[in-house]
Amino acid sequence: MCSHLNLDLASKKVLIVYAHQSSGSFNSAAKDAAVEVLTAKGCTVEVSDLYAMKFKATATSEDITGKVKNADHFCYGEETKLAWEAGKLTADITEEQRKLTEADLVIFQFPMYWFTVPAIMKGWMDRVLTLGFAFTHEKRYSQGIFKDKKAMLSFTTGSQESMFSANGINGDMNVTLWPLQNGIFHYCGFQVLAPQIFWAPSHVPSEARGTMLEGWRTRMQGLLGENPLAFTPLDCLNDMMSIKLLL
Ligand SMILES: Cc1cc2nc3c(=O)[nH]c(=O)nc-3n(C[C@H](O)[C@H](O)[C@H](O)COP(=O)(O)OP(=O)(O)OC[C@H]3O[C@@H](n4cnc5c(N)ncnc54)[C@H](O)[C@@H]3O)c2cc1C
Repeated sequence: MCSHLNLDLASKKVLIVYAHQSSGSFNSAAKDAAVEVLTAKGCTVEVSDLYAMKFKATATSEDITGKVKNADHFCYGEETKLAWEAGKLTADITEEQRKLTEADLVIFQFPMYWFTVPAIMKGWMDRVLTLGFAFTHEKRYSQGIFKDKKAMLSFTTGSQESMFSANGINGDMNVTLWPLQNGIFHYCGFQVLAPQIFWAPSHVPSEARGTMLEGWRTRMQGLLGENPLAFTPLDCLNDMMSIKLLL
């Protein structure tokens, strides 16, 4: 008979958006562990291996097939919204949107680059999270389009954990992750799971890396049952705006 955790994960769909150039990397090992554990739990797992796919990172008019509305003053957000409505986005974007639509959980696996995701992964966010498909003015934050989905960051650093503390040289990691976790995931409505951070795998002994991967495997057993992080609900923004109008 299935355990409670198996029932929780079985039949769930997981999309792993993965950005590393090397199959010998620690990130590759973390991605492989996720595929193995989640598949064994009964999940359907898809991987978007961005470098292997040579995923286009730049948001340009070439993301639209056929004519754009205003070629002289091309506005990416407005034009791609129209193209999404008309089914005129390029096949690479449409395919990622299909994967995202089907997914219950999206894991972004990457090495931290300049305090954020590598450019190729940022390009995935810029191009796949199209206005209309991923958010609208009315449907965002706690009322966002993906409010029934979960998303999380899983990444490696070059820095030690102490460097990303409130008093450390890099400052608080929560502040670093705010643009991604609040500005992108929560904005699109995702329930955001706590990040999985592999601190400085290049600078620790082999056994410590094994321990980190084991910790990740253990966490994945109950990943979809975890409580998401708390963010400010959209009602607060609406309340603040009505107070401003009254003043
Ligand atoms: C452009 C750029 C910007 C950067 N900006 C930042 C930044 O802002 N902040 C920051 O902290 N860092 C930064 N870094 C550093 C970067 O985040 C790290 O180099 C990266 O996270 C290390 O992860 P990796 O997967 O590439 O490690 P790898 O070097 O691939 O792996 C680390 C070690 O793990 C080993 N390994 C692989 N598989 C396994 C396995 N199955 N079991 C055990 N060990 C295994 C590898 O052999 C290797 O010895 C930056 C790097 C670059 C290139």
